[in-house]
Parts: sequence; structure tokens; C-alpha cells
Amino acid sequence: MNDSIAKIWDLSLKDIKQSIPEHTYQAWFESLQPVSFDNGIFKINVPNTFHFEWLETNYKDMIVNVLKKQVKDDIQLQFLIKKVEEDDVNDQDGNDLNNNYNTSRTNNIFPHGNEYSDRNKCIQLNNRYTFDNFVEGPNNQFSKVASRAVAESPGNTAFNPLLIYGGTGLGKTHLLQAIGNMVINDNPNKVVIYVSSEKFMVDFISAIRNNKMNEFGDIYRKADLLLVDDIQFFESKESTQEQFFHTFNELYQNGKQIVITADRTPKELHAIEERLVSRFLSGLMVDIQPPDYESRIAILQKKANMDDLLIPEEILDFIAKNITSNVRELEGTMTRIFAYSSLTHTDITLSLAKKVIGDILSIKKNNVISFEAILKTVAEYYNLSENEIIGKSRVKEIAFARQIVMYLSRKLSGSSLKTIGMKLGGRDHTTVIHGHNAIDKKIKKEKKFKKDIDTIKNQVDFELY
Ligand code: ADP
Ligand code: MG
Repeated sequence: MNDSIAKIWDLSLKDIKQSIPEHTYQAWFESLQPVSFDNGIFKINVPNTFHFEWLETNYKDMIVNVLKKQVKDDIQLQFLIKKVEEDDVNDQDGNDLNNNYNTSRTNNIFPHGNEYSDRNKCIQLNNRYTFDNFVEGPNNQFSKVASRAVAESPGNTAFNPLLIYGGTGLGKTHLLQAIGNMVINDNPNKVVIYVSSEKFMVDFISAIRNNKMNEFGDIYRKADLLLVDDIQFFESKESTQEQFFHTFNELYQNGKQIVITADRTPKELHAIEERLVSRFLSGLMVDIQPPDYESRIAILQKKANMDDLLIPEEILDFIAKNITSNVRELEGTMTRIFAYSSLTHTDITLSLAKKVIGDILSIKKNNVISFEAILKTVAEYYNLSENEIIGKSRVKEIAFARQIVMYLSRKLSGSSLKTIGMKLGGRDHTTVIHGHNAIDKKIKKEKKFKKDIDTIKNQVDFELY
């Protein structure tokens, strides 16, 4: 490590220290060590998986921002999990256990070494996402079986493309990357590319801007297995869809495997071209549902084992009974309970768990009224379909209901203008502001209308329970 990295890191730490409580700083920042800073990627060593997850969920943006300030440029941040001493042999397994988020995988992804090194950023697989670590239950069994079949013989099953869909935090990315990890393990020579749809789009746009369309095409053309995450992001992005369509066809015709995920079925994706939807539908579509109680317990147990945590059964039971909809929240809750206990030096007890979960549930109640709940309620109230509201119609009643959704989402859901616009069929954030203001004005002018809005609000609240 050279001096300048140390200096950048020192100055960044000073910044961080000023903006968070001392004990938090000591708990999460003092043990970090900068490793390298190349090609815009700043790498930091963290002591263990637990520490990694905590930083990743709570402080990553903050660290990126202070680093950017020091470097005066865009940077990417990468955490490496420090190897424990006995692992210096670096056998097949050591890599998995102690260096979960290591970038070494990326060399495998493009077996030709540095040729594509500048692309490595977008194609990392997380070693933790394996089939073994994926707890199976009635909610996801079929998806897991299909994913495994694809991973065993990519391109040689009837499941091409394989589309995995389901709500957020239910394990789509996990399964997608598990396929990639297994293929790389079994056939190190296969070229596996994992990309989020957002990344695909950003790269595509920058390729156009920099006159590098050929290189962009070449990268994807080389894939034996292309994994594309969250394709709902392609909604309303016409030229990106067009480009993806070509990429898709080329790979498909050459017998390469494609797996995609989405948060809805292709039919429910708005503003995605028909021909692309029909491509998606030509393979196999599998869904993931929220886990049942037994699966939730099994997931918590697995997570506890992986992180070497001992958590009493009654507490697992309590978490599983209270956090029901989403695996990410389930894991997050456990991480929080553990963090709380280690920061306050108290044992993990049921009352501690109750306190932490109570906090989480009250945050949920106060903030996380979902866009979906609002959309549903407004549609019902005005006797319209959700699709009409999201769609392109300019019929007065529909446009009006749409503006109410904009207004309430802005007020109640805590989503950004951009997100609201995106969910409303890919509208611009200025349209959302305009809609919000129009309704705000009307509420102030008309008592009766204000009552309508209050009624809708109450119903949205009701939707939550
Ligand atoms: P999605 O992509 O559907 O939003 P993720 O794949 O990111 O969800 O999953 C969120 C978290 O929950 C990840 O840490 C993932 O490992 C974990 N997870 C989800 N489903 C399972 C499962 N069946 N078994 C174990 N962990 C799971
Ligand atoms: Mg995901």
C-alpha cells in the first residue's frame, strides 16, 4: 500500500468520525484497513462477514461519499474479508469461507485474464450465493430445481431463457448467482457474465457516448452464460431494450444460456416491447413466493451458523413470527439484534429481540407505506385498474388518479421522485413533481377533495395490516 492511499483513507476517516457517534466509529471503522486503489476501485479489508454486511447495508454510501470528496472523482468501493491465519494455504474451500467477497472470481469470469480487466467491475459473483446456502421450501422449490438444472447443463435444457420472478428480498439474485457460481466451479473455462439491468444500460449508454459499441457487443457475445438481474429496470428504456434484444438473440441462436430475473411476470412489465416479452416467455418461467414459517426458521438458523452466532431458539421463533414477508428483512433483523447486543455489551435475550424488532416494526409502520399499496388503494377508490393508472392514457379521470398516486407516494412512501416516476410506467421525475403540486393545490382549495384524500390515506394505512 502506498502513502497516498493511507493518506486518502486517514482524511476520510476523519470526516467519518465527525459525522457519527464515537462508539459507532470504534465499533465499525477502527479495524478497517485500506488495501489498494486502482482503476477507480478502492479496496478495504474488513475483519469478518458480519462486519462486511453491516458496513455494506449501513455505511457504504457514506464511505463512498467521503472517499469521493478526497479523490475528487468517482470511485467504487469494495470490501475484502480478511483471511484468517490458518487459511494461507488457499485451498479450494478456504477461498469460500474466508474471502467471500474476494474479487479473484472475476478472473475466472473472463478466463483471458486482463484483457477485460476494466469490465470486471460489473461481473462479480458473490461466493456466498450458492445452492447449498439457499434454503429450500415449498415457496421456492421449483425455482431452485430449475436453476440447478440450468447450472448443470447451461444451454442444453429446455429452460432457455430461464426467468425467475418474485417480490423483493426473496432470493432471486441469490439463485441467479448460484447458477453462475456453480457453472464457473464446474467449468472454469466457461465465460459467465452477471450483470444487473441497470449496469447493462449504463454501460450501453457509455459505449454509445464513447464510440465503443463494438467492444460492448463483443463482451456479451463471448458469454456462455448470461445472467441478467432485475429486468424490470428495462421498462421504458427503449434503446436499451433494443440492444438487449440483439444480445439475447445472438446468444440464444448460438445455444448459449440466458437467465433473467424480474420482480413481476413479463406480462406485468409495462413498456417492455412485445417481441422481448415473447422471447422471455419462450423458455421457462418460475416464481419465488415469500417463505413460510418453517423456511423462515431454517433461513435464520443457516444464517446464524454461517456467521458463527449462537441465538436461542425462542428468539429465532420470535423473529420468524414477526418478520414474515422478506428474507432480506429477516436477515437484517438478525444482524441488527447481534449488532445491538455487541455494541451495548448485553446478551442476546428475548427482550432485546423484542426491542429491536419493535423498532423495526414501528419504522415500517411510519415510513414504509409501499407504492404498491397506494396504487392499489387509489385504483380501487376510483374504480380503475392499476394498469390504467400506470399506463399511457390521458383520459382525464385516469390522469387525475395517477396524480393522486404521485402525491401520496411522495407524502407517504418515502420513495424518491425518480423511483415513483419509474414505477408509474417510467415517467420523468418532473412529471411527478407536477402531479404532486397539482393535487396539493386542489387539496388546499377544495374541502370535499381533501376528505377524499384523507379517506384514501386511511385505506392505505389499512392495506398495511
Ligand atoms: P432478491 O434478489 O429477490 O431481491 P436476494 O437474492 O438479494 O433477493 O436475497 C436477499 C437476501 O436473502 C440475500 O442475502 C439472500 O442470500 C437471502 N435469501 C433469500 N432467499 C434465501 C433462501 N431461500 N435461503 C437462504 N438465504 C436466502
Ligand atoms: Mg436482487
